[in-house]
Amino acid sequence: MSMSCKKILVVGAGLSGAVVAREMAEKGHQVTVIDKRNHVAGNAYDFVNEYGIRVHQYGPHLFHTSNDKVVAWLSRFTEWLPYQHKVKALLADGRHVTLPVNKETSELVGKENVLDIFFRPYTQKMWGVELEDLDPTIRQRVPIRDDLNELYFPNDTFQALPKAGYTQMVKNILDHERIQVQLSVAYDKRMNTEHDWVFNAMPIDEYFDFKHGPLPYRSIKFHTTTVPIPKVLPTATVNFTHSEPFTRTTEWQLLPGHGKNPAYTTLTTEEPCDYKDNHMERYYPVKDSGGENLARYRRYEAEPKGNVTFIGRCGLYAYLDMHQAVSSALSISQGFQKVSPF
Ligand code: UDP
Repeated sequence: MSMSCKKILVVGAGLSGAVVAREMAEKGHQVTVIDKRNHVAGNAYDFVNEYGIRVHQYGPHLFHTSNDKVVAWLSRFTEWLPYQHKVKALLADGRHVTLPVNKETSELVGKENVLDIFFRPYTQKMWGVELEDLDPTIRQRVPIRDDLNELYFPNDTFQALPKAGYTQMVKNILDHERIQVQLSVAYDKRMNTEHDWVFNAMPIDEYFDFKHGPLPYRSIKFHTTTVPIPKVLPTATVNFTHSEPFTRTTEWQLLPGHGKNPAYTTLTTEEPCDYKDNHMERYYPVKDSGGENLARYRRYEAEPKGNVTFIGRCGLYAYLDMHQAVSSALSISQGFQKVSPF
């Protein structure tokens, strides 16, 4: 092996891991990617069901960004179908109104009621805490507007879905002669000594045996059903304002390139829960308003890590959207090339 070709292990075949793997392989390193699941693409994993409808197994993934570098990088591995996501909220009286709340929506319900109708119950069921106990940046992801814009991501310059799906896009990223992918393989710390460097997307608290206490996560139970009706919802996603445990339903066929079944439609309804109630499936790091969870993460971050770099939502304990996961993984890879010991 030449000095420049090192053995790299990437733990996790999601977007973050795939980007790092590709960057390392293109620098001449030999890369092994492992994932404990039996598929690549992490939580962006999608598949076409028996009705010919593409379903995102871990909830709706809508790609949106204003980061040209990320778009250029991903565009090497996928074509795109332009798509600007729209969401309606279902009110108690059965009306569907535009979300994020815009001028029309707030006039309909009364400005003073907006937080209580659209944010308080949803946040309570989504995060299991009161609105006030959650860092305000979380709900500010869905900003209240005073114009008539109807887009869920009103400001992003690039909004599209990968033409052949996320799974195929990630497969294309991983398709390189110096990348080997091993699925249904669990990580073991002994692998650190067998590799020159490890990029690890596993939960950082679990890696350190929870020595500073567990980092909380929310998870989602997905209820997917197919009904013999061509179309059910007014928009691809409908959010619920009620206090039932469900946050939203997505009708997959309403997304471009997700199937054209004239007789059946497949829908997925989301029921958030603590990750301990969903087979330890960690989806969302919880950003509390007091910053306690972040402080706990910082203690893990400060631990000596040897030849391990943490990546991704669970490794960095950060609510990364897909474009941010790609951007973060690119910076980590490129920064690593500069400071790496080899
Ligand atoms: N939110 C809300 N009501 C809604 C939609 C969002 O209260 O109808 C709040 C809620 O706290 C949610 C956050 O805004 O977790 C971010 O919503 P987003 O749709 O960005 O969440 P994601 O798609 O990442 O689950």
